[in-house]
Amino acid sequence: MRKSQQDVRCSFCMRDPSEALILIAGLHGHICELCVEQANELVEEELLGGEDEDEFYGRERASAPPPLPTDIRPRDIKAHLDRYVIGQHEAKKALAVAVYNHYKRLGQETGGEDDVEIEKSNLLFVGRTGTGKTLLAKTIARFLNVPFAIVDATVFTQAGYVGEDVESILARLLQVCDFDVAAAERGIVYIDEIDKIARKGDNPSITRDVSGEGVQQGLLKMLEGTPVNVPPHGGRKHPEQKLITVDTTDILFICGGAFADIEKTIGKRINQQVIGFNHAEKSRYDRANLLQYIQHQDLKAYGLIPELVGRLPILTYLEPLDVATLRAILTKPKNALLKQYRRLFELEGIRLTLTEEAEQLIAERALAYRLGARGLRSLCEAVLAEAMYDLPGDASVRELVVDRDYVERRLGEGPLSQLRLAA
Ligand code: ADP
Repeated sequence: MRKSQQDVRCSFCMRDPSEALILIAGLHGHICELCVEQANELVEEELLGGEDEDEFYGRERASAPPPLPTDIRPRDIKAHLDRYVIGQHEAKKALAVAVYNHYKRLGQETGGEDDVEIEKSNLLFVGRTGTGKTLLAKTIARFLNVPFAIVDATVFTQAGYVGEDVESILARLLQVCDFDVAAAERGIVYIDEIDKIARKGDNPSITRDVSGEGVQQGLLKMLEGTPVNVPPHGGRKHPEQKLITVDTTDILFICGGAFADIEKTIGKRINQQVIGFNHAEKSRYDRANLLQYIQHQDLKAYGLIPELVGRLPILTYLEPLDVATLRAILTKPKNALLKQYRRLFELEGIRLTLTEEAEQLIAERALAYRLGARGLRSLCEAVLAEAMYDLPGDASVRELVVDRDYVERRLGEGPLSQLRLAA
């Protein structure tokens, strides 16, 4: 006999269609989306070998040793960054001090009467794409051996809209440390493209700004430090889902963004400041690189809400890369691109050498394509692809010398020749 529509309900929890979003029909019954979720969790637990949930999610795990050894100073941290990141000395210094203070703060005994509570030193990196913002954050996390997650601010939307909740930032962090909550709570999160959630336009109240201000508001508490209920697999929170509480008090947040055209705002502010000053005072400013004068008020003018700006007290900038820096990036860091290619060829028994002129030309082209250091990789691929295809297995070739002509020829033939050079 066919069931009437009123009889249809979840065969597990007896919810009727008005209480469930979806009822999936089976041969002899129905299941609602919440029961599917619970069943999924049961299966996961079973597959984890019956491990205790708390144990799996890490509350019981022994906490890791302090990330910062006692004899380390900010100078040592910067020296470490220097091995992997070329230039960017201001940003490195700011990062070294912030990290030093942050982890000092973690080691601090609290509870005394005249305790001074040291506030968090979250950072904001402003700089063009491909200048090393992510690399700096990644390198410091590796140095400290703490969990590190990179998230993109553009995927978040205000709660209640399509997209991810900001809490899923912490889900990523939990995932990288295998749900060891204690470890995640001293980790580092890099939030990229923070400029993309800037409020558009000057009047915040005309329309609901789903992707901008709402997300900024959502981030506030998390950046400051609070217990956050995190859906372990990210995405959207929904009722009856098991949540893991992560306290963000000791998590260091580093935000990064290109803030395109913010130089105009900085320039305008400087012009207002120097009105009436003499020529010498005005020309004190390096107009070609205004980013170095960035201040918190410029970020507010750009569309970050003051509360968010206030929670990112350390503001620093990354220099645009010039040809000399690009060339250094190609050759100098511990795992520089050319070192990697040299190693690849070595594995085939071939010695790869690039002449100085060849290196210079690659750096010049990377600058012209305006891809930052990311362009170096595509250029090297374009230059060496043919050789990497032909040479393996060819016993007659023991050495490949790449000179300027070779680079020009390869770049002239490959797909990169289609790229328009920036003026
Ligand atoms: P973004 O500033 O956009 O976050 P990334 O840090 O992701 O840029 O840099 C992209 C790539 O370029 C990195 O993988 C890194 O290899 C290289 N790179 C960029 N800047 C530097 C730098 N200052 N020193 C060494 N490598 C760099």
